Amino acid sequence: AAKHAGKNRFGYFTLSMDEKAQRRLRLANELRGALRANQLSVYFQPVLDLRSRKVVKAEALLRWQHPQLGSIDPAQFIPLAEETGMINAIGDWVFREAAAWAQRWSSKLGAPFQVGVNKSPVQFLAHEDESWVAYLQRIGVPPQHISVEITEGLLLNTSGSVSGKLFEYRDAGIQVAIDDFGTGYSSMAYLKKFDIDYLKIDRSFIRDMAADEADRTIAESIIVMAHRLGLKVIAEGVESREQMELLAAAGCDYGQGFLFSQPLPAADFEQLLLSGGGSGGGGFAH
Ligand code: C2E
Ligand code: MG
Ligand code: MG
Ligand code: MG
Repeated sequence: AAKHAGKNRFGYFTLSMDEKAQRRLRLANELRGALRANQLSVYFQPVLDLRSRKVVKAEALLRWQHPQLGSIDPAQFIPLAEETGMINAIGDWVFREAAAWAQRWSSKLGAPFQVGVNKSPVQFLAHEDESWVAYLQRIGVPPQHISVEITEGLLLNTSGSVSGKLFEYRDAGIQVAIDDFGTGYSSMAYLKKFDIDYLKIDRSFIRDMAADEADRTIAESIIVMAHRLGLKVIAEGVESREQMELLAAAGCDYGQGFLFSQPLPAADFEQLLLSGGGSGGGGFAH
């Protein structure tokens, strides 16, 4: 019986691995058509000023609504898009959407409104027929309306295409944020070399900061260091009032997380922005 069970387990295991691989293959193939078929959309998550509790910017986050499989998490399909090179076309599309919405919201508010767009290392290394800076110039959107979110690992890349794009952003006035800060190879030297504007404290440090003294110390130290270097700090994954208050007490500039809002479809985000949460309105009650 034991032998039989073992065989079954093995059989199940290989089948499950096979299913996983097949699902990946299916998603990778279908992602090509997803953009054309209008299955992708850009959601926007508000970033709040922790003092005024007003929405000061947003992060653009990709969503895939698959006709059979339902909503698919970016953690599942972004890596596939990177492997197949699809991330370049998709990422450019997210960026153009973000630029258009940022332009619209800036004119509605009568003040510049910035949207952060994630850009992965694969995108940085790829040749671009038209750079993001050139695109904004061509359509007449001020570069201040966009910030680019990169991860620490990218700054270790010595490719000329990485530093070239970063310097192009700096010269044009596109702000740069380090995403998931503290989880990669954090180096103060790179912060100085590349003129970074924001550090986004990874949500793994925020999650337990109320209970875990080490996490709280790390978060507070990132804030102190960032401010001494002239950078603004955004806390990611703020889910509780207690986290928000600890962060505000530590001098953290901005926060983003489910306490304030999930990522929202553009129309819902716009409603939030213009009717209370926005820089023109009454802010959040928290
Ligand atoms: P990220 O850039 O660090 O984005 C923040 C992630 O945290 C988002 O996950 C967001 O929904 C989630 N989040 C926000 N607040 C909370 C909270 O309070 N609690 C928890 N548990 N999570 C929170 P999402 O949308 O699933 O995106 C995952 C990652 O996929 C992003 O991490 C980013 O690295 C990547 N990604 C998303 N959209 C794009 C894109 O357009 N281009 C590229 N290259 N990458 C993208
Ligand atoms: Mg991000
Ligand atoms: Mg992050
Ligand atoms: Mg700068």
